[in-house]
Amino acid sequence: MKIKVLETTLSNMIAAGEVVERPASVVKELAENSIDAGATNIIVEIEQGGVKYIRVSDNGCGILKEDAKTAFLRHATSKISTPEDLNAILTLGFRGEALASIAAVARVELCTRIYNQGFGTRVEVTAGEFTDESETGCPQGTTIIVNNLFFNTPARVKFLKSDRTEASYVEETVRRLAFAHPEVSFKFISDGKERLFTSGDNNLYNVVYNIYGNDYVGSMVNVEHTDGNIKVKGLIGLPNVYRKNRTYQSFYINGRYIINRTMSAALEEAFKGSMVNGLFPIAVLHLTVPPSFVDINVHPAKLEAKFADDSMVFSAIYHACKNTLLKNNSTVKSVGEGVINTRAEHNSPSYSAVAAQPLVLKEGHEIIKTQEAPTKPAVNINTVSIRDNQAIPPEIIPKNISVYQEQRIEGTEHSKLTDYKLLGQLFSTYIVFEMQGQAFLIDQHAAHERLIYERLIKEYRDKGPMPQQLLTAVIVELSPLEFSLYKENGEFFNQLGFEINEFGNNSIAVRMLPIALDIGLIKDVVIDILGTISKNKISALEIIREKALYTVACKAAVKANRKMGEFEMRALIKDVLSLEEANTCPHGRPLMIALSKAFIEKQFKRIV
Ligand code: ADP
Ligand code: MG
Repeated sequence: MKIKVLETTLSNMIAAGEVVERPASVVKELAENSIDAGATNIIVEIEQGGVKYIRVSDNGCGILKEDAKTAFLRHATSKISTPEDLNAILTLGFRGEALASIAAVARVELCTRIYNQGFGTRVEVTAGEFTDESETGCPQGTTIIVNNLFFNTPARVKFLKSDRTEASYVEETVRRLAFAHPEVSFKFISDGKERLFTSGDNNLYNVVYNIYGNDYVGSMVNVEHTDGNIKVKGLIGLPNVYRKNRTYQSFYINGRYIINRTMSAALEEAFKGSMVNGLFPIAVLHLTVPPSFVDINVHPAKLEAKFADDSMVFSAIYHACKNTLLKNNSTVKSVGEGVINTRAEHNSPSYSAVAAQPLVLKEGHEIIKTQEAPTKPAVNINTVSIRDNQAIPPEIIPKNISVYQEQRIEGTEHSKLTDYKLLGQLFSTYIVFEMQGQAFLIDQHAAHERLIYERLIKEYRDKGPMPQQLLTAVIVELSPLEFSLYKENGEFFNQLGFEINEFGNNSIAVRMLPIALDIGLIKDVVIDILGTISKNKISALEIIREKALYTVACKAAVKANRKMGEFEMRALIKDVLSLEEANTCPHGRPLMIALSKAFIEKQFKRIV
């Protein structure tokens, strides 16, 4: 067959297949043009999901009369002119294909007037052919109406969903743009009903209020963080608000909405430990990066982005969110200088491996049941070692470990977990609650220790050590015996996630830890691990490793004899109840004991 160059109309129809997938993509392109034109007011109106009618009007700069037709030509753009411009794109559009593509598959009317011009211009294009150009009266700015989308490409119509679904996609598109541009007032009207309105007062908080409503906005807190030349700004929901999917997570790069796995993985990683698996944090986060750092030209609708360095983006978002969570957690005091919960390696394995895990809540939790009345229930309480009983001043509570927040549980599968009555804390050491006709006592230290241990061992098995870097190395002086033990086992410490160098004179410099710990505890941890090694020399490496991780978990856990807030207690109860089989702390002590009503009644001789 002879090769022919396609005529413009046909090639535009083919291009339209890429850019114009459905009404929402039309709205995205048109509203982005309005933003690029400097509009502060954008109204989007649709009928029948946008298939019949889409109207986007703005108060932007307008188009010169002589450019009005040109705007519809393929690769006609006012936004770039040299190849170098591609490395520094600051506008949303730049390909110059949207108007040409849309006009190829619909009947499009454009009315536009620039500032200072007494009259406006009207251009009509039907299926890629100009069908009108005239002078018209119109307000300053641009209005584009798209009638009968895909009327000449019926095959595309078949791929559309119901009008309601298409309308919801359009609404989502407007929402994304509104979050990106709090300085612009957006209104969205569908079949005559106003569905969304933002005031354009340049306050992201108000946009979130207008879009997600009061329930969420009350728990949203500001994020502001700079990491090298990456700036992160926006709002995240504290762990008491969440969704069961990622629909309430929006990420922007240089003002452009982006779907990017690295970014949500970093967000979710920051919430690890304060949000149950299977629930997703809420966030609207804006990243500002040098334009050359990101390639948004990889996706026709520019929804995906490629970064020069994924790990830097991960790290910036992770720290931005983690710091914000710590700052906003009144139950956790921050520690002095020196401890940061930093992932040492930017390309920490965690970010690629973080995957949504289904919430596993087993029917009938495995908990110690004392149907058979224990002869001496108090024994368990007394077995807390003296060391654990020492009052630990709050300022040395590890910074990011004992973060427990109540999870507000949605849906039915969780209802069991909320079916308990919290009675309080006993001796600042035990959490007491009533559930299903029994009284339960949780040993806060043992339970927390177990939960940290579970996490460490799981992370270790799944991904290898996950080191936390210290701002400045901590120097630990060892005895000559300990030092020689360390020298023999340096590699073992590396495997656990420590980075340690010899520092002369029987001292070592600790630069990284497997988990964030108060610096005051580092010496204890190292020495305890050395003790474990010397005591268990002939055990399998696996056993020594587990024991060493016990030590780390023990040091990092909430101590006994510390008052806990209600949020913390509830979160701990929930986490303990969701453990699959966790009757004991890593040291073998019980986490939780249950006192049956029968047992209590027996003690009072109500029954025999
Ligand atoms: P691009 O946005 O990639 O430049 P488009 O096909 O979307 O390409 O638009 C072509 C040109 O039309 C733009 O570069 C801009 O100059 C002009 N234009 C489109 N929409 C508007 C608008 N709402 N206000 C002002 N100018 C517009
Ligand atoms: Mg455009």
